[in-house]
Amino acid sequence: KMNYGKKDPVLWQSIKSEENRQADTIELIASENIVSDAVQAAQGSVLTNKYAEGYPGKRYYGGCQFIDQVEQLAIDHAKELFNAEYANVQPHSGSQANMAVYQAFIKPGDTILGMGLDAGGHLTHGSPVNFSGKFYRTEGYGLNSETQMLDYAAILKQAKEVKPQIIVAGASAYSRIIDWQKFRSIADEVGAYLMVDMAHIAGLVATGLHPSPVGIADVVTTTTHKTLRGPRGGLILSQTKYAKKVNSAVFPGTQGGPLEHVIAGKAQAFYEDLQPEFTEYSKQVIENAKAMAEVFNESKHVHVVSGGTDNHLMTIDISDTDLNGKQLQNLLDSVNITANKESIPNEPLSPFITSGLRIGTPAITSRGFNTDDSKKVARLILQVIEHGQDEQELKAVAKQVHELTNTHPIK
Ligand code: PLP
Repeated sequence: KMNYGKKDPVLWQSIKSEENRQADTIELIASENIVSDAVQAAQGSVLTNKYAEGYPGKRYYGGCQFIDQVEQLAIDHAKELFNAEYANVQPHSGSQANMAVYQAFIKPGDTILGMGLDAGGHLTHGSPVNFSGKFYRTEGYGLNSETQMLDYAAILKQAKEVKPQIIVAGASAYSRIIDWQKFRSIADEVGAYLMVDMAHIAGLVATGLHPSPVGIADVVTTTTHKTLRGPRGGLILSQTKYAKKVNSAVFPGTQGGPLEHVIAGKAQAFYEDLQPEFTEYSKQVIENAKAMAEVFNESKHVHVVSGGTDNHLMTIDISDTDLNGKQLQNLLDSVNITANKESIPNEPLSPFITSGLRIGTPAITSRGFNTDDSKKVARLILQVIEHGQDEQELKAVAKQVHELTNTHPIK
C-alpha cells in the first residue's frame, strides 16, 4: 500500500463526526439513503486511480480491460433493472445527466417545458439560476390549485402555447403517481421530445411500484443515490436509436474521464436492486410514507400537499402554524431529526424560508424503521411544531429520537 504521509487528523475527525451524526439522526431528507458496505467499498476502491475516457471497448487510454468489465456490468445491470435498450452509466450526477440529455436532443435557445421549482420540479428543469434556464428558453408548469396534483389538460394547453422542443416530466417533491402516457400524448401533440427525470422514484420504478417511463419517454434520466440506494451519480436510459447521440453528449460533450469507482458502486447497487429483498424494502418505503401522511392528516394545523402520498415522500404545508419551513428545519435539527424546508404550491415566502417541509422515508427504511416507528416519527415532528418553544418538550423529543436510532442502528 502506498503511504504518502500521515492522514490529515482534522479531515478524519470530521468524517468520524459525520458517521456519528448519521448514526444518531433520523434522516428524512427524501433524496438521501444509506448505502451498503459493498457500494461504499466499491467507491473507495483502486478504480479511482484509472482514466478511461471513452466507452467499453473504445477507450482513449490503455489498461482499461478490467475497467471495461466493470462499466459493462453496470450497463447490463441497469438495462435489466429497467428493461431498457440502452444505458449510459457515466454521468457524474443527476444534473450532469440532464445537461447531457439537453445537449443531445435540443439546441441552445430551444424551449424546455418542465415542472416549476415551487411546484416540485428540479433546478435543472429550467430554473433561471441554473444552466438550463440560462442556455435555453424555459417555461414551468404548475399544479392544479384545488387538487395540488398535476393537471394534464392545463399542461397540454400550456404546451400548445409555448411550443417546447422538449418536455420534462418528473420531480423532486411530488408525492403522487405520474402518468407518463399522458405526458407522451402531450409531447406528441406539440411535436416535442419527452424526457422523464425519475431521480426520486427510480427505486420504486425498478421494483414495479411506480409505473415505468422507460419505453414511453424518448429518454429517461435518474440519480443513483436516492431510492435506488446507490452511490452519488447519474444514469441515462433510452432506445438504441439514440445511443450514439447520448453517448457523445456525455463524453466528450459534457464530461471528461468517467468516475469508474463510482460506476463500480452503481454496478453493485443495481445488483442489489435486482434482488427480491429490494422489492420488499421499496414496499416498506411507501408504507412508511403513507403511515406518516396518515398521522399528519389527523392533525389540525398541518396539511399534506395533495392530501397524501403514493411514493416515498410528501411535503407538509405548515402555513397554519407559528413556524416557517426554515424555523422548523432548525428546530428538528436540534432534536436530531434531519429534513429540509420546501416550497409549497403557490409559495408566498422565499425559497430560503418557505412554508413547508419535505419528508422522505428511504433512509429510515434502510435502517429498519417500520410503520409504527414511522408514525412515532411523524408524531415527534408534530410535537416539535406544537411545542417548539418549550426546552423540556424538545429534550423529551430528542430522547425518543435517541431511542429510535438505538433500536435501529446503521449496521
Ligand atoms: N433531478 C431530480 C428530480 C432531482 O431531485 C435531483 C436532485 O435532487 C437531480 C435531478 C439532481 O441530481 P444531482 O444532485 O445528483 O445533480
